[in-house]
Amino acid sequence: MVDTARRDTEREGVEGGIGRTALLVAASRAIETHRHDSLARDPYAEHFVRAAPASADWPVRIHEVPDGDANPLWGRFARYFGLRTRVLDDHLLRSVHTGALRQVVLLGAGLDARAFRLDWPPGCVIFEIDRQGVLDFKHGVLDGLSATPRATRVPVPIDLRADWVGALTDAGFDRTAPTVWLAEGLLFYLPITAERYLIDTVDRLSPRGSTLAYEVKLEKDLLAYRDSPLYTSTERQIGIDLLHLFDGGPRPDSAGDLEGRGWSTSVHTPFDFTHRHGRGPLPEPNDALEGNRWVFADKTRP
Ligand code: SAM
Repeated sequence: MVDTARRDTEREGVEGGIGRTALLVAASRAIETHRHDSLARDPYAEHFVRAAPASADWPVRIHEVPDGDANPLWGRFARYFGLRTRVLDDHLLRSVHTGALRQVVLLGAGLDARAFRLDWPPGCVIFEIDRQGVLDFKHGVLDGLSATPRATRVPVPIDLRADWVGALTDAGFDRTAPTVWLAEGLLFYLPITAERYLIDTVDRLSPRGSTLAYEVKLEKDLLAYRDSPLYTSTERQIGIDLLHLFDGGPRPDSAGDLEGRGWSTSVHTPFDFTHRHGRGPLPEPNDALEGNRWVFADKTRP
């Protein structure tokens, strides 16, 4: 049963609520794209930012930010998203180029333009799940640019708190094919029941050989970081109160759950990848990134 509040957020696009976080990530990718030492390039990102009234005046180059890299939001936080984009680009490409995986599902796809910008092998199908309003906005911008996907791309407009399996299956998802699943910047917005359902569903729909990458926050008390410069500058500069948007309830141990279901998992801090790439955020006091973990799971047993 869909209540009124849920119906409203299902319709919501990128202008309000959680949808605006997709614009935040897009602006960060735009800034990253134009850095001389960029970790990831997304030529579509700045077009999303410019097209939405909510973000039209946000910076898309670091030199447009008066205090540049010293700015907690457009410096350190944007670099975090740049690093995350690069690491997950590499992960997806490794999965499709070294394995036989040809089916990809982007959960909470937002303004992810990977279907348009990465080098996919022939035969790849990419399903993008997000809410209708977000996908409508995305299509408006991409159509305006005459952008052409580099794989078969299938949008699936559905709320992940609803029964999204039916929508995915109706869209042509093949449950016998090993799948690459990605939940980038998503799970902390979902209630515990939706995260449990998502992990359970991904497992049910994943034959051996499937992979899942996702991001979690491990803090026991998110509010302990309420004064973190990342949160306060994001709210002050662009009016997004991330702590208000995150689900405040207890989080499940999804990595442990997956291990019990025949997946092998590896859990990393973002800082592991900062060291690997020689650039990206490093730990600092009162750090809202302290609990962030990037989890990579492979289904090794049926
Ligand atoms: N994964 C994308 C990326 O990294 O560019 C988008 C990340 S953005 C921070 C979070 C996305 O999750 C938004 O596009 C939002 O609409 C989507 N999202 C959050 N809750 C959702 C829900 N209940 N159902 C579907 N999508 C949801």
